[in-house]
Amino acid sequence: MNAPYTPGRRTICRVSLRHGTMQPEEFRVTDAVNIEQFLRAHGYASGEAARRGRAELERAGLTHPGKQAFVASKLAAAEQLLASTFLRACGDACVKIDRAGAGRAREVVLVPAAACEICGGSNNRRAAIECVRLLLRRSVARLVVVGGSPTQQAELKELLGGTGLDVRFVDGTRGHSAKDALANRRWAQLIVVWGPTPLRHAVSDLYTGEPLPHLRIVSVSRRSIEALCQAVTRSFT
Ligand SMILES: [Zn+2]
Repeated sequence: MNAPYTPGRRTICRVSLRHGTMQPEEFRVTDAVNIEQFLRAHGYASGEAARRGRAELERAGLTHPGKQAFVASKLAAAEQLLASTFLRACGDACVKIDRAGAGRAREVVLVPAAACEICGGSNNRRAAIECVRLLLRRSVARLVVVGGSPTQQAELKELLGGTGLDVRFVDGTRGHSAKDALANRRWAQLIVVWGPTPLRHAVSDLYTGEPLPHLRIVSVSRRSIEALCQAVTRSFT
């Protein structure tokens, strides 16, 4: 039996005959990788996607018509070939994001959302990518996010990390001085007031009062990160 394959890892789960359980094992270069499983593990789940993936592997000589498996030593080359040939996307929104970005346009294969290389099945991620691109295009790099639970703030921080945006978070449940708020408002180009999250009026009022001429303020009326990103994006259109 061929080993089930997990992308991005060099260990695999193999059914152990002795124990009847799934045991991670190291690949040996001579192991056979079942092509159908390999393609499915990379998201080429539909008949059409699997057919395209397989045709490309055959075209590059990594396998041949009728063969069910290739040796594990060809794994890296096969992964590289698919990644450079195809865009794995879950739908039009993610294709659009890829097309608007840098790099050449690759052939689209439709995959389940979890295998989408743009959003990975996360609406938050998709909305964050669009929002970040728009902000950078508009030369908005300094944001203050007022409110959000610690978990939401951590996820947003992760999504915006390394994008070139500089983000300060304000805990809406703690005391916050007018002086600190003014310093944040002078520093920021954009203030996001995340209303439906833990946020005391005493804190949000410090940011929504007297407007500063350079400062854009966006109020978010729903609590998800997707909603926050969409509200910011909408405020520019
Ligand atoms: Zn997607």
